[in-house]
Amino acid sequence: MIRLLFTVCAFASPAFAQTQQEQDRFDELVSLYQAATVVGEPTFEPCVLSQGAEANCLKITVVAAPSDHITGPYCPLNISDTAEAGGTWFVDGEVRDVDGDFIARLSEIYQNDAWQMFDPETGDIFVRNNEIGCIVAGDPTNSTGQPDNICVDCSLGFIGKTVTRTYFIPLTPVASEGDVGDVRGGVGLALNGVKVEGPAPLELILGGITIGPFDDCGGHINPSEGYHYHGILEGCGARAAAVTEGHAARLGVAMDGHDLYDQLDLDTSEPADLDACRGHEVEGLGYHYHVSATATNQILPCLTAQTGCSLESADANCDASLQSREQGGPPPREN
Ligand SMILES: [Zn+2]
Ligand SMILES: [Zn+2]
Repeated sequence: MIRLLFTVCAFASPAFAQTQQEQDRFDELVSLYQAATVVGEPTFEPCVLSQGAEANCLKITVVAAPSDHITGPYCPLNISDTAEAGGTWFVDGEVRDVDGDFIARLSEIYQNDAWQMFDPETGDIFVRNNEIGCIVAGDPTNSTGQPDNICVDCSLGFIGKTVTRTYFIPLTPVASEGDVGDVRGGVGLALNGVKVEGPAPLELILGGITIGPFDDCGGHINPSEGYHYHGILEGCGARAAAVTEGHAARLGVAMDGHDLYDQLDLDTSEPADLDACRGHEVEGLGYHYHVSATATNQILPCLTAQTGCSLESADANCDASLQSREQGGPPPREN
């Protein structure tokens, strides 16, 4: 009954006037995001997109953790540990296992003797986990005064609260004027509720002689974003088969309202006609993106339409244009 009343009210308000196409898209997304840990009811909301366009958005609040796979581990504890004890890291476009040997050879991998992340006598690795690991994970500029040569390890249980994120996703994409949109505020939302994040600030992290490993699903955790992906792995997280035969599976929706699909089609080839933002138009699927190869640290390089919002507060409104103006540029970097 409550839900029925809400629906009636929503339709009665002119601010919520939407087309049948938007209604259908709303219903489709709500159904797809049943795979996520959704908080409350997704709703129709007016929203202001990144270049000021007024639009209708799906507003959805999710627990910022995968609903369908475990998270971690991240840092091995000793240089004798095998790959099961650690996660992954991206080096020169390759996914590398962060096992004990990887930590032992960091000075060789980065050709810099400043790397010494373990006790040479015991082989124990200098790990920051528990609460301090999460504080450091939220502070890639290391203003908390931690030393360098630490492996940063933040688990959800040490943040001290359940992190949720609230997304406003445009139901009808509105093309960007001029420059294409950047992805520093995030690429999108995976069907399992995980934020598909922009690039990790690897130069900053490595410049501080630290690493903050990803787990075997290409994700890691910080206190504001919760668990988020910096790389997409096909075996990780919910997928929805494409309606077009042989096409890559859908893994989520981008912040501009276009769909996100796996990198490769089912014959393991990448579509040949992708544009600069890795999008293309396919009959039956419309315009959509294919994510990059896992270790590029750039799940998508850009977005072609104006973006909605990804917010910490579930009560806020979405004005993506105000957000970028107030912050005087790109959103703050995260680890
Ligand atoms: Zn495609
Ligand atoms: Zn990150």
